[in-house]
Amino acid sequence: MTQRPRKALIIGAGIAGPVTAIFLKRAGIDAEVYEAWPCATGIGGALQIAPNGMHVLAELGLADEMIRRGSVADSFDFYSQSGRPLGSINRNMQARFGQPAVNMCRASLNEMLIDKAWCANAALHFEKRLARIEDRGDQPVVAHFTDGTSAEGDFVIGADGVHSAVRAHVIPDGPRPFDTGLIGFGGFVPRALLAGRSIGQRVETTFGQSGYFGYGFCSSEPDAGVMWWSTQPSHGVDAATFRAMDQAALRQHLREFHAGWHDPIPAIIEAAENIVVTDTLDVATLPTWSRKRTLLIGDAAHATSPHAGQGASLALEDAMRLGRLMRDRQELGLIFQNFEHERRPRAEKIVALARRNGNSKREFSATGAWIRDRMLKLLLPVSAKGMDWMYAYDPRAA
Ligand SMILES: Cc1cc2nc3c(=O)[nH]c(=O)nc-3n(C[C@H](O)[C@H](O)[C@H](O)COP(=O)(O)OP(=O)(O)OC[C@H]3O[C@@H](n4cnc5c(N)ncnc54)[C@H](O)[C@@H]3O)c2cc1C
Repeated sequence: MTQRPRKALIIGAGIAGPVTAIFLKRAGIDAEVYEAWPCATGIGGALQIAPNGMHVLAELGLADEMIRRGSVADSFDFYSQSGRPLGSINRNMQARFGQPAVNMCRASLNEMLIDKAWCANAALHFEKRLARIEDRGDQPVVAHFTDGTSAEGDFVIGADGVHSAVRAHVIPDGPRPFDTGLIGFGGFVPRALLAGRSIGQRVETTFGQSGYFGYGFCSSEPDAGVMWWSTQPSHGVDAATFRAMDQAALRQHLREFHAGWHDPIPAIIEAAENIVVTDTLDVATLPTWSRKRTLLIGDAAHATSPHAGQGASLALEDAMRLGRLMRDRQELGLIFQNFEHERRPRAEKIVALARRNGNSKREFSATGAWIRDRMLKLLLPVSAKGMDWMYAYDPRAA
């Protein structure tokens, strides 16, 4: 391409999509975002943005709002099924990395990012599900949607997540998401449930003989201020099967699975409403992240299972780094190559770490769980230090 590209079609308005739109606008490029779902529906659960992702929110002027609407996490503490402390990581994040880790409802984060993208004059279109991309030489690239409409631009950014339709255009017979054999349950309970406990701003998590449970504050809302999640071996039962059950049946399943786990886990389960169930997916390494005038970012490029708590932060970093690279007046193919060259090693290292972490949440024999707990106790101080590289990354300085 000889001319500087002027208009991007961004597919997906999750995390990477709206943020990429903002950074592209700052680079002087028009950005139109197309999202399959209606605005702000169906986004459940909570998540944690790590210091590296918070740097991007700071660059957008959103870090303070994130802290105000979410909840700063002072540490990540681990317990055995009976409640014995195993160790603590991620302390003093603000002092060590310049930003804290912050928990937040996913819906609030999405609302903040979409509002910011509107304010940056990005065009956002909802209920536009990408069907296919047409890229013919000197013609504009065309995104075709399932409702029969289409849009034209100079290039396409696939920010459409783990089930990316753009990925199928970039790598027609490429890898598809696979089930990691773990299933996630999650939701919110009232803050009052943790009143009187000394949890403070810590996120507390528990390794069972089979599975894992976590909880912590995620907002000041009285009715839904505590996030919780349970990760379990799926034993071949997928999320859709659980989603077909009513809430009472889901609660009963959780009650039985976590029977005998330490307090306040049983009380959280009793109070749980609107329980969300998710498959835990992963995607094998892609041979390339781009094809002609289309680039993949975020989960579409490097989907990670959630066990490193970094997928959203990586998506934020991708958006910012792409925006920075687009400021240089280079040829589009070269920018895409540079982006992949810069981002791939870091993303793949984190994906691998998440896979390893997921293994500690599978089913163990009683002896296996006992050994795992002792190993965790011994190794946590060392492995905590070994994760500093992840949080110390500042995409503004890179
Ligand atoms: C249970 C769970 C817990 C997690 N917890 C954390 C955490 O604590 N911290 C963390 O950093 N990460 C966490 N993650 C990972 C994180 O959610 C993802 O890595 C992150 O959302 C990726 O952002 P993204 O913008 O690439 O994709 P997404 O956020 O998935 O956004 C993709 C968007 O594209 C849209 N879309 C899809 N297909 C189409 C189409 N054909 N046409 C148009 N639009 C389309 C989708 O509707 C969606 O809005 C968790 C994930 C799970 C499943």
